[in-house]
Amino acid sequence: MEKGCIFCDIVNGRTSTEILYQNDMLVVFRDIHPHAPVHLLIVPRKHVRSANDITEADRAILSEMFMVAKDMAHAQAVARSGYKLLFNVERGGGQVIFHLHLHLMGGWKR
Ligand code: AMP
Ligand code: ZN
Repeated sequence: MEKGCIFCDIVNGRTSTEILYQNDMLVVFRDIHPHAPVHLLIVPRKHVRSANDITEADRAILSEMFMVAKDMAHAQAVARSGYKLLFNVERGGGQVIFHLHLHLMGGWKR
């Protein structure tokens, strides 16, 4: 739990954010400024600053993020049509929230 971190607040239930899925390792909620018809954020409960800061101890979290991303794509009915999974890394990579998160975006009409 990092003081002043909005994603720590969300994963610890300190906001009114609607949680779509959660387990002991991570939480899933909708992006507040969606860039796609379906735009979810898959967020570990552990505060990891960015992809640059992951360690050996985080292997299980990373694997869980991908497993849950795949399941959420099915649950949101975008698995077959297709979706993007994205990590923005550091400011130059577009990261603005410094608590690791995986974007799941899909649902475009093509
Ligand atoms: P990034 O640019 O990868 O750091 O993405 C951060 C994302 O978090 C952005 O797409 C924001 O729209 C989203 N975001 C910021 N605050 C909130 C919030 N309170 N609830 C949901 N999504 C948020
Ligand atoms: Zn945090």
